Amino acid sequence: MSGFSFKVVKARGQARFGELHTPHGSINTPAFVPVGTQATVKAVRPRDLLEIKAQLLICNTYHLYLRPGAEVVSNAGGLHGFMNWKGPIMTDSGGFQVLSLGAGIEHGVGKTVKLFADSADDSRIEALADMKKSRGEIITREKFCFVSDERIIFKSHLDGTFHEWTPEKSIDMQNKLGADIIFALDECTSPLHNREYTEKSLQRSHAWEERSLEAFQKGQGLRAKGQGKAQAIYGIVQGGPYEDLRRQSTKFVESHDFFGIGIGGALVNKIVMEQILDWVAAELSDNKPVHLLGIGGIDDIFAGVERGVDSFDCADPTRISRRGDILLSPEDGGSRKNRWRANISAGEFREDLNPLGIKCGCPACSEGFSKSYVNHLMRSRELTGYTLTTIHNLYVMEKLMAEIREGIAENKLEKVKERWMG
Ligand SMILES: [Zn+2]
Repeated sequence: MSGFSFKVVKARGQARFGELHTPHGSINTPAFVPVGTQATVKAVRPRDLLEIKAQLLICNTYHLYLRPGAEVVSNAGGLHGFMNWKGPIMTDSGGFQVLSLGAGIEHGVGKTVKLFADSADDSRIEALADMKKSRGEIITREKFCFVSDERIIFKSHLDGTFHEWTPEKSIDMQNKLGADIIFALDECTSPLHNREYTEKSLQRSHAWEERSLEAFQKGQGLRAKGQGKAQAIYGIVQGGPYEDLRRQSTKFVESHDFFGIGIGGALVNKIVMEQILDWVAAELSDNKPVHLLGIGGIDDIFAGVERGVDSFDCADPTRISRRGDILLSPEDGGSRKNRWRANISAGEFREDLNPLGIKCGCPACSEGFSKSYVNHLMRSRELTGYTLTTIHNLYVMEKLMAEIREGIAENKLEKVKERWMG
C-alpha cells in the first residue's frame, strides 16, 4: 500500500497523537471525520472545509452506488475529482446502509425494527413495535433485506429496485469511487440481536472481511498498472456487546493484512460502548490506525481517545446544524449538561448581535455573522443559515480535536477533558 503509513508520535496511556499519511495528504490524529454522504458535506464547499482545517472526509458507498453510480464518479477521476476535494477521503463498505436503509424507508419502519427483522429476537421486536404503535407510527414486518452467507439482497430506498451486495461488489464499488481509505464489508448487528445470532453473524462478517481483503488485493494489482492512486483497507471489529466475541474479532482483524482497524456496531449506550472499546483496546497492537465508525459525540470522543481510537466519523455536527443547533465550546457555555449545544432559532437570540461563539475563530463568526442574523435565517429557512451553522459546528469539532492532540503531546489531556467535560 504505497503512500500509506501510520506513526504514533506520542502516546499517553492508550491515548495517542499520531500521523496518518495517505497519497492525498497527511492527517494528524486523533481526528474528527466530517460526513459527506452524497459526496458533499451538506451546505458547504471544499474550500470551507479547508478553511476550518478538516483533514479527512467519509462518503457513503451505498448512496453513491445508487446515485449517481460508481461509474460516473470513476469517470470523473474518483471522488477527489468528482467532488473537488483534494484531501484524504474514506468510504464505508455500504453494508450498514444496505442493511438499514435498504429495508424500506417508505414503509415507515424504524431503523432498529427493520434491521434484520428476520433474525432479531422476536419478543424485543414486539416490544418496539408496541411502542411505535402507541405513537401512531406504521408498523410492517415485511422484509426488504435478505442476508445470507453469500450475499445481501436489498431494495433501493430511492426507487424500490432490488440489488445484490457482496464483499466483492463493495470493494469493486469502493475501488471505483477511489477513496484513500476503504472498509471491508461486515454485517453490523444491532442491540436487538441475541447472543446466538451475534455469534453467527460474526463468523459471517469475518468470512466477508476475508473475501473483501482478497478482492482488494486483486484490485490493487489493477491500480498499480496506472488506474489511479493506491488505497488502504480497514477491517472491522464486530461482536455486539459480548466480550469474548469482541476480543475474538479484534484478534481476527489484527491477524489479517488490513492497514487499519474499524470498530463497528459499538453504539448501544455509553456504558456498553466504553466496555466494548476496553475489550478491543486490550487486544490491539500499537501500530495500526483505529477508526470508530459512526460515533463522535464530544463525550464519546474523549472515551474513544482514552482507549486508543485515532479517528471518528459522525453525522451529528452537520445534521444538527440544519435544525439550527450550534455547538458551544466551553468558553461559550458548552457543557455536558447542555450537550454542548444551543438552538439558534430560539427567541432569546432574536436580537443578539454577538457572533455564534463569542470567542470563536470560525469563518462564520470571525466574518461577523451574528446570532440575531442566523436566528432570522434559520427561522426563514434561508439556505445560508445552514451553511453558517455547519461551518461553525465543524470548526468547533476541529478545535476540540486540536486541543486533544495538543493535550496528548503536552501531557495535559486530563486538563483538556476537564475543560470540556467539567
Ligand atoms: Zn463560529
